[in-house]
Amino acid sequence: MPSLFITRQKVQRPRRPSLSSLLISLSKLLLIFESAFSFIPVTLFPLSRRDISLWSLVNSGHDIDTSSSQNPKLQQQQQQDVVIVGGGIGGLAVAARIAASSSTTTSKVVILEKNTEVGGRCGSFWVDRKNNEQKELFRHEQGPSLLLLPSIYEEIFTETTNKTASDYGLDIVQCVPAYQVIFDDGDRISVGFPAATSNNNKKGQIKQQQQQQEALSRAKMDTFETNGATKWDDYMDITSAYLNAGLPNFIEERFDPTSLPEFLIQSLKNFGRAWPLKPHSDVLDEIFDSNKLKALASFQDLYVGLEPYRNGKLLGGGVFQSTAPAVFGLLAAIELHPTNDKAGVFAPIGGFQAVTSALERLVIDLGVDIQCNTTVTGVTNDGVWIQKLQSSNSDGTADEFISANLVIVNADLPYAKKSLLLDDSNGDNYDNSANNNSIRNESYIHQQPPTEKFDWDDNFSFSSGVVSFYWSLDKSLDDLNTHNVFLSTKTRSQAEASWQVLRDQKQQKASPEHTEKNENGNDQDDYPFNFYVHRPSKTDPSVAPSNCDAIMVLVPCNTLLRDEECSKLPRKEAMDRYQQQFPPEAVLRIRRAVLKRFAAVETLNNLEDHIIHEEYRTPATWADRYNVAAGTPFALSHGFAQLSLTRPGPDSSRLPNVLYCGASTKPGNGVPLVLIGAKQVAEKANSILASSEHTKSS
Ligand SMILES: Cc1cc2nc3c(=O)[nH]c(=O)nc-3n(C[C@H](O)[C@H](O)[C@H](O)COP(=O)(O)OP(=O)(O)OC[C@H]3O[C@@H](n4cnc5c(N)ncnc54)[C@H](O)[C@@H]3O)c2cc1C
Repeated sequence: MPSLFITRQKVQRPRRPSLSSLLISLSKLLLIFESAFSFIPVTLFPLSRRDISLWSLVNSGHDIDTSSSQNPKLQQQQQQDVVIVGGGIGGLAVAARIAASSSTTTSKVVILEKNTEVGGRCGSFWVDRKNNEQKELFRHEQGPSLLLLPSIYEEIFTETTNKTASDYGLDIVQCVPAYQVIFDDGDRISVGFPAATSNNNKKGQIKQQQQQQEALSRAKMDTFETNGATKWDDYMDITSAYLNAGLPNFIEERFDPTSLPEFLIQSLKNFGRAWPLKPHSDVLDEIFDSNKLKALASFQDLYVGLEPYRNGKLLGGGVFQSTAPAVFGLLAAIELHPTNDKAGVFAPIGGFQAVTSALERLVIDLGVDIQCNTTVTGVTNDGVWIQKLQSSNSDGTADEFISANLVIVNADLPYAKKSLLLDDSNGDNYDNSANNNSIRNESYIHQQPPTEKFDWDDNFSFSSGVVSFYWSLDKSLDDLNTHNVFLSTKTRSQAEASWQVLRDQKQQKASPEHTEKNENGNDQDDYPFNFYVHRPSKTDPSVAPSNCDAIMVLVPCNTLLRDEECSKLPRKEAMDRYQQQFPPEAVLRIRRAVLKRFAAVETLNNLEDHIIHEEYRTPATWADRYNVAAGTPFALSHGFAQLSLTRPGPDSSRLPNVLYCGASTKPGNGVPLVLIGAKQVAEKANSILASSEHTKSS
């Protein structure tokens, strides 16, 4: 799909290990060595790096005035215990947990957010279509629309206060059925019905309707292939075992032996037919015959930035890179399993803005300071450089250095590594070897503040990009569910081609002109691709005026390709260049193809005539708004090379007082995973802070 819609010049990326990277690896080893022996009493190593910096930072306030007087653009320096770079879900959650911790006496936690509001990718926006001077509001989601694992959302509130999510304004309802799937031949099926006996407190009539829908759905599966519904149940059991073992042991990183017997039974049964480390499609081929059920059982791989199909050109069928191992079937269980207590697709009443607003209220209650319109331009071991939007200077910004004992970077990790971290390896003036920290602080203060830039570490593998359309409509689209997935499955080769955007992502062909025919000679609009449509009014009528609707369409596409030249440009110029990788004519082509697929449903065939307001975003927009690397909204992909132990953790190998949290770190992308990761980072931060307090007091 969009690899054909949007074609660009391939950008060369240097790969060979350099002398400097070897030196960095050596210094990593030394750091490991250092931390491995950190239990040795401080008297043996009285000037270890962390101790020095935490101790002397407390005494660094005297630098303020000197610096301000030497550089008129520098503002009064602040001193904080913890600075959090970015107010996304990760930043908010880690701030709440540190502020609520009783293990430290930390009081000064500040979140610095570049945008006017916190929440990052998670939140909603409103379109106001004035009608005879009356407000007509249409609500759209910035990003997330599927609320999974609601207990993890609840936990952050109950574990930091004695209150519930609902006390902070977050109410969650289950969507039944979870999804509607619309195939490219117009066939439709609804999936995801909690078992009738489950704790589904719907009233009698609604429950009866749902049971009828479920019966229709099972009958439909049997039309796809013989015993389709029974095979589906079989697959659900396998994925439930993956989920029960995978969530505690690999995602939450707490050993849960009780889940392992069932996991092993399901994995080894029938000569290892569902062995979880095989390419996902190998297991699907063992269980299902039809393209439709295979696609239905695996489209969730997109969430982790992987395709389900074996890639014969790559080691292990691609499971180390772009192909999902079968264990990611656990995503299907999370959404669709009828009895697993972790399963179900939910929606927050009031949209994902309710999630962000509830977390924002929580952190404010806990005494965290939030500073929006504040862009961090450099991260050092002792604090951060910022630019605050204000009117006092000609360019509307002022530079400032904020000292901190601990910096937690919630901005996307591969971006932060290249664009924010100031140290030797970036060629900046940071002296890693200096032992006298007050001298080190002065060197920051006297150097020029860094220039804001946008670049990312391209040695990682990324999830897909997304082009999103936000359509406000003067018609209610009753044939759509809250969550709808459009899948291409006419033939096996078409089903595989519909994932092309995740295959060979970094080998896009150079083809400056956008031809109307693709390489197979097909009309581009007919090229197979999958996409997702969110219609929240089905669960929450406050989304749009009556008889109107608001939908979000997400079409996976290429990521931005890194341009070496851009790394040397100021941020604005780099962004302008990246914007050109997604020209309006390419977006129009995607829009046309989407509308054509909608037309497979009779009542949706003239949708374009009912669009009264529209906006779209491309990977370049995501990059500009949130500084996400490669413009991907779904962070680093989750192949074996970037999963669990191999995914970047919270530690910075270069700056010991810096931690990372967020979707590109462990355990991974998606609001619940980011919340789980934030808990782990906060525990680490609290122990660092507690040990620094201990050092100060002893
Ligand atoms: C289109 C789309 C659909 C999605 N669908 C779902 C879904 O259905 N369900 C789900 O669970 N998840 C979904 N996600 C993923 C989910 O949104 C993310 O995993 C999660 O919100 C990431 O949170 P974060 O805190 O890691 O990062 P972010 O939200 O990116 O937060 C980082 C923050 O740092 C700020 N920042 C960056 N650079 C700087 C700087 N230099 N100075 C100051 N601030 C800075 C950014 O502005 C941002 O606010 C979706 C995402 C998108 C975009």
